[in-house]
Amino acid sequence: MTKKAYFISIFPKIFNAVLNEGITKKSLNKKIIDFEVVNPIDFLKEKERLDDVSYGGGPGMLLKALPIIESIDFCKSKAKKDTKVIYLSPQGQLFNQSFAKKLAKENELIFVCGRYEGIDNRVIESRVDLEISVGDYVLSGGEIAALAVHDSICRNYKGFLGDENSLCEESFENNLLEYPQFTKPKELESGKVPEVLLSGDHKKIAYWRRKQSLGKTFMNRKDLFSKLDLNETDEKILEEFLSELGYDSDRISELLKEI
Ligand code: SAM
Repeated sequence: MTKKAYFISIFPKIFNAVLNEGITKKSLNKKIIDFEVVNPIDFLKEKERLDDVSYGGGPGMLLKALPIIESIDFCKSKAKKDTKVIYLSPQGQLFNQSFAKKLAKENELIFVCGRYEGIDNRVIESRVDLEISVGDYVLSGGEIAALAVHDSICRNYKGFLGDENSLCEESFENNLLEYPQFTKPKELESGKVPEVLLSGDHKKIAYWRRKQSLGKTFMNRKDLFSKLDLNETDEKILEEFLSELGYDSDRISELLKEI
């Protein structure tokens, strides 16, 4: 069944530009996914403005409630019953991989993209099911956030990826970042492909990859690392990773205590 996304945005061209490329274009052609962009400008009465100042004062303009509400209602009239309405917002719940997997179960989704200082809060109160943030920083609009969220959801749809095994080893599976990867040529001025990856020894390759995954997660994402349920072998592998980086045993013990 085709999975459909509705994007509500005052800049509709952004969606065609991004979605009609690469893997999303292929999936559109294969009817695995479909999308529709609805522009709140089309719901304005003659000479009515789309934005206005915020009651109570403050800088910038706010998107008015009614054109957005009418856009959502329009999408809802076409979508399946109970289709979730998502507002992209820095004030929303932080998006992650498990969130993407959960939302991939929905057949249709409606994404509302804010601009300027955001949208009148009555839209959120009356129409929005979920507020989602893509990170603790502020973007100029919800379009890039909606596309990022949509893309990561799409990767979980059946048939979207050429090889669904890609999902199993990707970063964030089991709170681990993915290991480094290399392709041809074997040698460059900037370095050689690690010998073990050319060995054909799958056991050794799996061991090396586990070590890199654990090490990279430890170095870059202590928040994820602290959620891992490590066994003795993992601890040994991590120590090996750190010693290969040049840390001595005292420093390694110190680092491991920090987790
Ligand atoms: N005044 C708002 C605030 O401080 O929370 C920020 C408004 S922002 C400039 C304009 C729009 O960009 C928002 O309405 C939202 O749709 C989108 N946006 C900005 N940062 C985002 C984030 N981290 N995650 C999701 N959407 C974001």
